[in-house]
Amino acid sequence: MKSDNPNHPYGPEEIAIAAIGAVRAGASIIHLHVREDDGTPSQSPTLFAEAIRHITDEVDCIIQISTGGAVTATEDERLLPVRELIPPPEMASVTMGTVNFGDGVFWNPPNLIRAFLAEFKKRAIKPELEIFEAGHVAFAMRLIKEGVLEGPQHFDFVLGVPGAMNGNPKNLFHLVDLLPPTHTWTVAGIGPAELTLGTIAIALGGHVRVGFEDNVFYRKGELARSNAQLVERIARVGKELNRPAATPAEAREILGLPARKWERVTAISGADPVA
Ligand code: ZN
Repeated sequence: MKSDNPNHPYGPEEIAIAAIGAVRAGASIIHLHVREDDGTPSQSPTLFAEAIRHITDEVDCIIQISTGGAVTATEDERLLPVRELIPPPEMASVTMGTVNFGDGVFWNPPNLIRAFLAEFKKRAIKPELEIFEAGHVAFAMRLIKEGVLEGPQHFDFVLGVPGAMNGNPKNLFHLVDLLPPTHTWTVAGIGPAELTLGTIAIALGGHVRVGFEDNVFYRKGELARSNAQLVERIARVGKELNRPAATPAEAREILGLPARKWERVTAISGADPVA
């Protein structure tokens, strides 16, 4: 919230401006959540469409919407933007299991995950499989075996959420070890782990997510000015390590997404009970 960092964007327009800045700083994927103008987290397709329109009017990038929302969102609310956005986003995140999340519970039972993935499949949305615990990788492998997931998958290791695996590099090494090499992965380190795990991921051949969802500080005691400032730093680290940031077109290739000229989001398909 703005009480944590006054530079935190609220409302679709501020969020879009933050996303555009991040893309200009080197981001090729925008992991997108939306909030109302007062900062309340939302899964409203109208707010998503508005943010996406603003972003894609200015820059090309892969939009990856969240189906997590806030831990208080209902299952139907979480799926709304997947069901309603036209065209569908190229990617959406889905978490591979239930996990304690601070004092809350992020509820992801097996059949809910299967239902989410079925909706993705209908719309050719590539999932990002979010992993908070080692058992979540095992569940993803089970879905691959069942044929629910086909082909190389993209994982996101979220490390450092209170109640789940912490941001110790050993946890990242362990998770990477669990993945067959055909799959790709990103790390999202929470708080101070954002920079350390991001740097390690670059060295290991993985990919990185940075931004206010995971960390609002630039360094200890100094708030980040923007998401772009965090992207800019990790892009600089990548460049130094001979792994410059991928362009959106290169990222689509890495992820096995069809090359595409972004189609402007022009409509949502139906009623928007959340708006
Ligand atoms: Zn998220």
